[in-house]
Amino acid sequence: MAKKEKPVLYCRFSVDGRAFSGQIRDQSVDIVEGDPFTGMSPIRLSYPIDRVKFLPPFAPKKIWCVGRNYLNHVKELNNDVPKEPLIFTKPTTAIIGSGDFIRIPSWAGRIDYEGELAVVIGKNGRNIPEERAFEHVKGYSIMNDVTARDLQKNDGQWTRAKGFDTFAPFGPALLLTQEIPLDASIRTIHNGKIVQESTFDMMIFSIPRIISHISRFATLEEGDVIATGTPGGIGPMKVGDLIEVEIEGIGKLRNICSE
Ligand code: MG
Repeated sequence: MAKKEKPVLYCRFSVDGRAFSGQIRDQSVDIVEGDPFTGMSPIRLSYPIDRVKFLPPFAPKKIWCVGRNYLNHVKELNNDVPKEPLIFTKPTTAIIGSGDFIRIPSWAGRIDYEGELAVVIGKNGRNIPEERAFEHVKGYSIMNDVTARDLQKNDGQWTRAKGFDTFAPFGPALLLTQEIPLDASIRTIHNGKIVQESTFDMMIFSIPRIISHISRFATLEEGDVIATGTPGGIGPMKVGDLIEVEIEGIGKLRNICSE
């Protein structure tokens, strides 16, 4: 049997102010031409990984999010288990890359991290059946669904609480595979301490269920991103904090909070 090839880990990065597309190896990043949506070809040039500044892996067309998709998170906020996936969106202007600052508004009360697996859509679809959902997936990345918790409660709807500029850290890389192993781990690390830890088999609604559900009311498009919900362990951040979300096989999304 042929040896299974490791999926490509794609990224966007800058070195000395110039932006490139790349493929992450162990300790280096190879420059590539193109992107995962239009096709990529390698260029024989690479940088050591510690010299590059990661950018968001691409500019998402839409950002979909799933609320309350892990039981331990539903319980920690005393919410009811949803009967079907609870969907909201974030504006694309909230996107920042790994290494960029999360701006903490001084007037908005408690601001929480929410580490999440982000599904990247690679093929348009409407009314997608669950059994064909993975055909629409381009790959996986990481998103921190930063949330103004007090505003979320007081507003009733979530657009403002979830939609501040910088409230969608995204990256550092895009793992090009249609199915991520469900036993892969996600971990959020707040100032060096592990605060969230789970695997993807703990989701209440599976990735195919979520894709199928959204596509029953809206067209999923190439370049859409779906943040699939956060495990238990959410908590507040303050100016100066370092927040890292790590997913096995993808890498670590690192951001510092600033004013
Ligand atoms: Mg969330």
